[in-house]
Amino acid sequence: MQLYTEADVQADALRGERLAVLGYGSQGRAHAMNLRDSGFDVVVGLRPGGATSAKAQRDGFEVLAPAEAVKGAGLVAFLVPDMAQGQLYKDIENGLGQGCTLLFAHGFNIHYKQITPRADLDVVLIAPKGPGDLVRRQYEAGRGVPCLMAVAQDASGRAEARALAYANGIGGTRGGVLTTTFAEETETDLFGEQAVLCGGLTELIVRGFETLVEAGYQPEVAYFECMHEVKLIVDLLHEGGLRKMHEFVSETAKFGDLTRGPRIVDAHVKESMRTVLKEIQNGQFADEWVKENQTGLENYKRLLDEDLSNPIEKVGRELRGRMSWLQE
Ligand code: NAD
Ligand code: MG
Repeated sequence: MQLYTEADVQADALRGERLAVLGYGSQGRAHAMNLRDSGFDVVVGLRPGGATSAKAQRDGFEVLAPAEAVKGAGLVAFLVPDMAQGQLYKDIENGLGQGCTLLFAHGFNIHYKQITPRADLDVVLIAPKGPGDLVRRQYEAGRGVPCLMAVAQDASGRAEARALAYANGIGGTRGGVLTTTFAEETETDLFGEQAVLCGGLTELIVRGFETLVEAGYQPEVAYFECMHEVKLIVDLLHEGGLRKMHEFVSETAKFGDLTRGPRIVDAHVKESMRTVLKEIQNGQFADEWVKENQTGLENYKRLLDEDLSNPIEKVGRELRGRMSWLQE
């Protein structure tokens, strides 16, 4: 794996070019503001009257419809939701200049061929490993969030240099830019959110809560143990890995972890993880998600409703209402 920093940035890459940022949500706002502060000429492309248009205008950006924003741009960043990117590409393709660079923050649409870019375009990925507000706050503090970088199509012969100049513009080179491929970024990102982060962790929390409540313990106490205290542990892991967590929890907690943890997340769970990974690698998950979007998101909405109607949500709302530090 290659690691790039500010010293590797080629000064002439992207210089003097207009950059079009499509989308002004979590990533779009952070990228647009950082790039502008780095001296780039940035235009924001949004649907007229869309929710974030007014925000971008308040932040002082020129806001145009996407098909207009891309005209004359040397680089176009796709920072709208992944499921909106395929249609957006169709809407703007005619306006893209010869040899322009398409930039993504997640590889889904290129890797799963929802977008087939014109052959004259460079296609690159700069994926900050953090949400947009962190990308912005770190930049303002003179630091930067590490980024992954990949090149899917190098028509100009300078695709990587151009991607790196963009990463530099958002502050990524201060944290370090690591090379990957669209396939690796996409597949590992999906696996992480499904098996460990959003999927795995929440199931573990909710099933733990249910186990205690069904055994007759008070829901409030179960909430504290299974949901609230996750933050304490995650902060320790984030700051110093397994070792730091072991330093800060009790000896009893450690012994329980070492002897009981592997019985909870056992060989069967690992086998399921491999199956979920296979469905990512062979495109089954992507197909299912694209179809779900094309057919009105009926399953998705039902599952989301079920998730949010778990009793842990009710008791959580009440208890969090008493945590003054969360009210700010
Ligand atoms: P977001 O949902 O926060 O923002 C969406 C923006 O796109 C808004 O400005 C919205 O008005 C606009 N938009 C929504 N639907 C649209 C449509 N149909 N056509 C045109 N514009 C539309 O998005 P995000 O979370 O910043 O994600 C953008 C990209 O960044 C995605 O590829 C995502 O995978 C990637 N990414 C996100 C994060 C993150 O922390 N959120 C981290 C890394 C990568
Ligand atoms: Mg869940």
